[in-house]
Order: sequence, then structure tokens, then C-alpha cells
Amino acid sequence: MSRGSETDSHRLSFYDVLEVSRTATLEEIRRSYQTLALRYHPDKRKAPERGEAVGDESADQFIRIDEAWKTLREERLRRIYDAEQMQQAEECFVNEILTEADFERDAEQGDMLLRTCRCGGYYILPEDVQPGESIYVSCDECSLIVQVNTAPQR
Ligand SMILES: [Zn+2]
Repeated sequence: MSRGSETDSHRLSFYDVLEVSRTATLEEIRRSYQTLALRYHPDKRKAPERGEAVGDESADQFIRIDEAWKTLREERLRRIYDAEQMQQAEECFVNEILTEADFERDAEQGDMLLRTCRCGGYYILPEDVQPGESIYVSCDECSLIVQVNTAPQR
């Protein structure tokens, strides 16, 4: 007997699980993780607040939060995860194929390489992109994604 694929409906991204944006800093992710881990920690299950998930669901949630944090806290794992996520969405969402030259350096934003999306949001190029790497960058406001092919090392 099967209860069906209930878990499929809970398949949220690690960012959704940690309730942060895709462009959240490590510090933002850490704070959110600490808050959520406390809320869903198995030891806290005896005294749930009203309206809060209890029992197994809470334990499952704690496992998901922990898994998400262990990936997103590692810059390298996070990038791999991002790329996987975006590749899955590629066919629907890749909006443009760009190079670094299409991005502008914005000193006010901490010297990041930015490109304005047509929605008014920004594509933000990760600082440690490897030369010759092809990555996917998502808009911080909407669901559009651009592919960025960086120049090979000279
Ligand atoms: Zn956008």
C-alpha cells in the first residue's frame, strides 16, 4: 500500500527551506538557519507553539533545514547546487546568454558586477567565477535566468 507521492509537494529549494533569497549572504543564511533550527529542533517538539507543525513533520523539517544549511554554507557546494537548480529550469527560463562584458561594476553595491533585468531587478555575478566557466545567474527579483560565459584566462 502506498500513500502516494506526498513528499513531492514538499520539494522546496534549499533557499525556500531556509526562507532566504537566492542572493542572500552567508550571514543572512546563517541567521535564518539558526532561527529555523531552533524553531524545528526535535528537542522543542514537546512544547510547540500554537499553529506550529508538530511531530514527525517538524522533525522532517529540521532535517531539511539542516541539509539546506550544510550545502548553502559552503560557497562551492552552493554554486554547484545553484547550477543544478538552474540547469533544471534552463529550458523554461534562460533569458539571455551573456559574457562578463555585459555586466557593470557597481561600487555602491560593494563593487559587484551587476546587470539590470528588464523587471528592474539585478543579475549579480558571483565574485569567484572561474575563468572560462559557464554559469547561470538568476534575477534577484523575478524568475528570469541568464547564462554567463566568462572569458578564459589570458
Ligand atoms: Zn528580473
